[in-house]
Amino acid sequence: ENYHALLAENRKLFNEIQDLRGNIRVFCRIRPFLPGQKEKKTSVEHIGENGELVVADRSKPGKEGHRLFKFNKVYGSDATQAEVYADTQPLIRSVLDGYNVCICAYGQTGSGKTYTMTGPNQATKENWGVNYRALNDLFDISQCRKGSITYEIGVQMVEIYNEQVRDLLSSDGAQKKLGIMTHSQPNGLAVPDASMHPVESTSDVIKLMGIGFKNRAVSATALNERSSRSHSVVTVHVRGKDLKTGSALIGNLHLVDLAGSERVDRSEVTGDRLKEAQHINKSLSSLGDVISALAQKSPHVPYRNSKLTQVLQSSLGGQAKTLMFVQLNPDASSFSESLSTLKFAERAAGVELGAAKSNK
Ligand code: ADP
Repeated sequence: ENYHALLAENRKLFNEIQDLRGNIRVFCRIRPFLPGQKEKKTSVEHIGENGELVVADRSKPGKEGHRLFKFNKVYGSDATQAEVYADTQPLIRSVLDGYNVCICAYGQTGSGKTYTMTGPNQATKENWGVNYRALNDLFDISQCRKGSITYEIGVQMVEIYNEQVRDLLSSDGAQKKLGIMTHSQPNGLAVPDASMHPVESTSDVIKLMGIGFKNRAVSATALNERSSRSHSVVTVHVRGKDLKTGSALIGNLHLVDLAGSERVDRSEVTGDRLKEAQHINKSLSSLGDVISALAQKSPHVPYRNSKLTQVLQSSLGGQAKTLMFVQLNPDASSFSESLSTLKFAERAAGVELGAAKSNK
């Protein structure tokens, strides 16, 4: 009886993994209103059970401002970190089976990207984001498999700012600019010179990421909230060795907190800010182009157009599995940013519904 239960469970897992292979998934998450926020007028009209989302432009009367979108999942503002992670977990398991996986968070600054990926400042285990939960699972599962496969897990953390890649974990001056390997990537590592840190437990990871975020914050004070204008990429490199056959399993997991997607008014900024805005715009649209080419199974995937897509190449396309969290601020006054976020996501996922009417 146990055996059958186990088989059924494995088959379920296997189907889930098959389902995700080569697939692009888009999960939309709406953050709650923040404590202290007085005016609570929301642009979210309706969340359906099958990934439907209706948003409303409140400056238009009645249903005129309604727009319908469809994603793999939509999480309302009451969704917990654990609920969100439960749907992500099958992807994490597959990294230990030798797959490459990319999980990224897209949205305007303040929409909850860091909350979803990492958690709030000084997170407790209960509100850990995807990063910590993923690593925690990788350690747990590798521990369970210890008798048949031994795993080594290493972590890199880089920042991409103005089309330059910087190591966030190097001990000697974090300012060194790093090159990218764009051709053969035998171990799947696109930034071979970024320092690689072996980790054996979640507390190792928490310590390392703390250093990485601090390094990011140091440049933030110098350059004024730089963290929202750079992409941070945590790469988890998993190398397994099958004790019976001696064969190796290599999987990489990219966890990406993207730069804020808000449009900068070009008539108002010049110099460094304009350059930053142009770089962010270029890299986010390149990411959208790559994901959209993959979703449409296009023979040409334009990885070469930005550093971001080059760094993530091994976990986008082919046998890799990609998940994009699309983050929304519920505030009606953020409607136009939310709409452009949603349009980006539906184009990337290859499921444009157009200006469909809400059926509510
Ligand atoms: P971003 O990374 O997109 O700039 P943050 O993750 O920093 O946005 O979120 C902005 C603020 O909203 C933070 O104070 C964060 O703690 C809070 N927040 C975001 N998402 C949630 C959520 N799901 N539940 C509670 N607070 C959240």
